[in-house]
Amino acid sequence: MFGFLKKVGDYTRDAVGAANYMTQGLAVTFDHLRRRPITVQYPYEKLIPSERYRGRIHYEFDKCIACEVCVRVCPINLPVVDWVMNKATKKKELRNYSIDFGACIFCGNCVEYCPTNCLSMTEEYELAAFDRHSLNYDNIALGRLPTSVTSDPAVVPLRELAYLPKGVMDPHGVLDTDPRVGKLPSQVLDSLPKAAPEETAP
Ligand code: SF4
Ligand code: SF4
Repeated sequence: MFGFLKKVGDYTRDAVGAANYMTQGLAVTFDHLRRRPITVQYPYEKLIPSERYRGRIHYEFDKCIACEVCVRVCPINLPVVDWVMNKATKKKELRNYSIDFGACIFCGNCVEYCPTNCLSMTEEYELAAFDRHSLNYDNIALGRLPTSVTSDPAVVPLRELAYLPKGVMDPHGVLDTDPRVGKLPSQVLDSLPKAAPEETAP
């Protein structure tokens, strides 16, 4: 009889303890319901990509000298530089240029090494397509102006974490005029000691 009562007592104590823990857990859960969600409501809200974001590549046909450096530095030799040698002028004539974004890994090597800076990385990342062949951009598609999160009137642009004011974790409600934490690249440049002017050789 005594053993049975002890078991009932132990069971009751354990049940009360478990209920206590559950109540504490639910209190924390319900406390979270009072907070505003930090979720970015894509596609109505979009985060502004950072300054060095590696998005879709932009290409300027007029600047390209068909040197094929971009092909050599690409991990998969992806850019297709279509040129012919003009025997009369003894110069390369560029015909077409294309990059297949279905295979590109957006490493940025081609942009880094292009000697004429005709390649650049944009902040465009919405490249989804139904047909994989439409991801193969020719020089016309590569040359069009990129879309921008900040210039789209249908989108609320939100700052990424590193660009929020000091101590702020939620991008909602942050004003354009609020200063970001840390310095802008231009401010870092201004804070560097100025190089002494080069002395001219006598
Ligand atoms: S490296 Fe630049 S200039 Fe040379 S072929 Fe590629 S895009 Fe053209
Ligand atoms: S970003 Fe990288 S993978 Fe894409 S074309 Fe340039 S070098 Fe090749």
